Amino acid sequence: MNTEDTSSPACRRRLLLQALAGVALAGGTGLAGRALAQTVEAAPSDVLDVVVIGAGLAGLTAARDLHRAGCTSFAVLEARDRVGGRTVNHQLGGGVIAEAGGQWAGPGQTAIFDLARELEVETFPSYYQGRNVYLAGDARYEEDLSAAHGNPVTAKLNQLSRKVPSKEPWTAADAAEIDKLSVAQWLTSQGIDNASRFSFDTSIGLTTGTPPASLALLHYLSLINSADCSMEKLEGFHGGAQETRFVGGSHVLSTRMAEALGDRMRLSSPVRKIANWDRDIVEIYTDQGLVRARQVIVALHPALCHQIVFEPALPEGRAQLQRLWPAHAPMRKTVHVYDRPFWRDKGLNGQISQADGPLIFSCDNSPADGSVGILSAFVRSAQLTHEAERASQTLAGIFAQALGDEAMQFRQYHDHDWAKVDPWTLTCVGAIPPGFLTRWGRYLKPAVGRLIWSGTETADIWASSMDGAVRSGHRAALEALQALVANRRNA
Ligand SMILES: Cc1cc2nc3c(=O)[nH]c(=O)nc-3n(C[C@H](O)[C@H](O)[C@H](O)COP(=O)(O)OP(=O)(O)OC[C@H]3O[C@@H](n4cnc5c(N)ncnc54)[C@H](O)[C@@H]3O)c2cc1C
Repeated sequence: MNTEDTSSPACRRRLLLQALAGVALAGGTGLAGRALAQTVEAAPSDVLDVVVIGAGLAGLTAARDLHRAGCTSFAVLEARDRVGGRTVNHQLGGGVIAEAGGQWAGPGQTAIFDLARELEVETFPSYYQGRNVYLAGDARYEEDLSAAHGNPVTAKLNQLSRKVPSKEPWTAADAAEIDKLSVAQWLTSQGIDNASRFSFDTSIGLTTGTPPASLALLHYLSLINSADCSMEKLEGFHGGAQETRFVGGSHVLSTRMAEALGDRMRLSSPVRKIANWDRDIVEIYTDQGLVRARQVIVALHPALCHQIVFEPALPEGRAQLQRLWPAHAPMRKTVHVYDRPFWRDKGLNGQISQADGPLIFSCDNSPADGSVGILSAFVRSAQLTHEAERASQTLAGIFAQALGDEAMQFRQYHDHDWAKVDPWTLTCVGAIPPGFLTRWGRYLKPAVGRLIWSGTETADIWASSMDGAVRSGHRAALEALQALVANRRNA
């Protein structure tokens, strides 16, 4: 398992000091805390020291670190008219929200919790007490998962994950062999029964946004490795990565970071072309005009990078990684709002899995005080109309089968299909197929010319999650600071 945690305060401090020490060497004087800012101010005014592309959690974390390090010459270019990327809230009125994208965090995800503390965003436990409901056709059954015993197949996956480092899974000793298999092929080889297989398929599909048949075993093991080599921690609520929520929704983390950046934050500025990335001054073409910078942090999913034109063309390996990176796992998440979380009175936790209909999984997403009841659901988009009235009634009918007739009495419905909203997400999480990481993985992280790659997919640990995004932002800011220093020294 990877143990290098570059987001820990101690490590960040050490790396920042290295960068500042570099400035001191370059300047030939004993520079202290604001040294980098002073060298930046000496630069020509129309060339920024750093441009960050993308104002998701990764890009904003990188920008915040630059700011805190005393760098004044930077800007964040965001395509949308809002920040937060794959995190965003539905506003339900009266200050109540429901998250349309990323929302949960859990043990081991220290980077996102540190960030929340620093931004004074409070957390609260997800509601998962009580029984789950399973539906198949007309059949319905309840199960108390807190009483479930460990599954031997899960134990085997956990054991296998020890050999697959989250940092660079393609360097695992048996990487080539493991990467020949999909998770589905491996599960089939374990001879598990249909009910267990349904649970595995649902749970893995929710975590990775793709069915196990399209998911590389190597990639999945690397995600388990991130979670302390525990599938239960990766996918569970109690003691797992779904244990905790953020008051006001995870999106607040991004809005608070953006507010502090002032006019360095440039919305509605999609980057269309990056030229001269192999020279001292990079040219970044946006819908709002041309921006020049010495270093560029590209805080985007690799498939989003592929939407940008690079001049000259990127090296072959990196270009292929971007071109082939799977972008077919958008998710659709809906919200039903009720007067109160009525299912709790019946000992149910609002978690429903449906084997053969539009509902993949629902959960209780009510606010901390339970003042209104919220059911959020992940749906099989192809099986649910986009017409809001019919979609909301269809889902309410499924909830009623599971939780009781009160489910028909919802007072609001919201639907966010990430595949349809705009071209700036493409895919929710990294759904990597067999053979991909061993072929292209090594091109994911190394900087190319003045381009530093960030975004959750590049995280050394907890890739695909909000925590990974924050970690990748910290790492990218440090790389940019260090590169600025090194380039000045060589000038
Ligand atoms: C439905 C859903 C549920 C999820 N659930 C969870 C969860 O519970 N817990 C968890 O930890 N994670 C969850 N995730 C994943 C999590 O949200 C992401 O891992 C994380 O938010 C990614 O952050 P990022 O900054 O790396 O990328 P993004 O959030 O994708 O940010 C990239 C930004 O770049 C912008 N952009 C794209 N192209 C350009 C361009 N050419 N020029 C300028 N800007 C551009 C985009 O608009 C976006 O703002 C979920 C995601 C989804 C969609």
